[in-house]
Amino acid sequence: MNYARFLTAVSAARKPSAIRMLTELQQRSPPSMISLAGGAPNPNTFPFQACSIQVKNGDTLTFDETMMKRALQYSASSGIPELLTWMKNLQKNLHNPPTANYSAEMGQMDMCVTTGSQEGLCKVFEMLVNPGDNVLLDAPTYSGTLAALQPLGCNLINVPSDQHGMIPSGLKEVLSSWDPADVHKPHSTVPRVLYTIPNGGNPTGASMTTQRKREVYELAREYDLLIIEDDPYYFLQFDKPWAPTFLSMDVDGRIIRTDSFSKILSSGLRIGFVTGPKPLVDRVVLHIQASTMHTSTFTQLMVSQLLHGWGQEGFLNHIDGVIEFYRTQRDAMLSSADKWLKDVAEWHAPAAGMFLWIKLKGIADTQQLIMEKALEKEVLLVPGGVFMINSSDPCPYVRAAFSLSTPQQIDEAFKRLSALIKEAL
Ligand code: PMP
Ligand code: PLP
Repeated sequence: MNYARFLTAVSAARKPSAIRMLTELQQRSPPSMISLAGGAPNPNTFPFQACSIQVKNGDTLTFDETMMKRALQYSASSGIPELLTWMKNLQKNLHNPPTANYSAEMGQMDMCVTTGSQEGLCKVFEMLVNPGDNVLLDAPTYSGTLAALQPLGCNLINVPSDQHGMIPSGLKEVLSSWDPADVHKPHSTVPRVLYTIPNGGNPTGASMTTQRKREVYELAREYDLLIIEDDPYYFLQFDKPWAPTFLSMDVDGRIIRTDSFSKILSSGLRIGFVTGPKPLVDRVVLHIQASTMHTSTFTQLMVSQLLHGWGQEGFLNHIDGVIEFYRTQRDAMLSSADKWLKDVAEWHAPAAGMFLWIKLKGIADTQQLIMEKALEKEVLLVPGGVFMINSSDPCPYVRAAFSLSTPQQIDEAFKRLSALIKEAL
């Protein structure tokens, strides 16, 4: 892989911060090292002293004074070493990426910690997308992705999709506008980036089949595309075995994967991970150096202590509990949908995630119905338009989340929605 051809001028121009390198060097040095370098403030002046955090299983995470000082201090931009090590082991066990043992130049798998996967995505887009570039994605898609991509001035090209995600023959058709022989010509307009949400898509709930992933990966090889695999609902797949990921198929080093702890440990702590070829992860880390510097050290130590205490088995046991909760919620939403919406709407049962994507029959656009009439009836849903490349195009869908409301509330909400639809017809 020639990674240089994927970088924007902005990303290619990023240089390591000398002070950040010294800070990281200092943290790896023996205590006998006297450092007058770095701009770290003295944590003895900080007001926080120590803390302990109760875990639901009865364990306690303890930050004594020494640990607390570390938690309150600057740390490495790629993430604290013990959290990164734990996560790299998890990635290897879950995905067994072919790139794990490659050399750095060949695109060896590397990782960095990000402040939620949104930060990682935003920085990955900034690294790869120039004004005027053609970028492939399967809309409807996550509005946060559109918010990060659209201001970059790229041309978003929609790839057809259905309840099993992106359709390979549709991608092939879209790509047939270009000749693979032109890929490496200067000023080529061939897309270089493809983005997709492979499991429990936001907003569609769609999950890609293994076969589709293989075919999409083959097309990515033919056209030398990078694939951004945005997979925050990976751990919310209701049925085992979990689907093989793009990362697990990545013989070339062309997958950049974003993982998130938002749906399984905490959304407010802001922890996510970028996994991908080292030359690209390094660029994301340079961007972190110049923006947030690093994800909160306190947050990382807290999460790392929890994970080291649990081990992978404890982590996966916790996930099983989370899945059980969401499966029950999904089933409750599906049965309420059957009860109230059968005649007025249609949907597919999601195999992962937190969303039901509902098509209202006979309603060309849900914007007004949801933002005005539904508000009056005290039921909140997201009108589908916000997930479209062109948000003003009419859209007959709404997104309903089964994450936060009780089955009774979900039932009442669908009863109200059903009445609204019937009034509007
Ligand atoms: N601006 C100046 C002038 C600084 O010296 C520093 C920290 N050395 C920063 C901004 C970044 O501070 P923060 O840790 O709040 O991101
Ligand atoms: N990607 C998708 C598809 C999402 O649905 C979300 C959250 O809603 C994110 C990324 C952002 O997640 P995080 O909280 O890790 O930034």
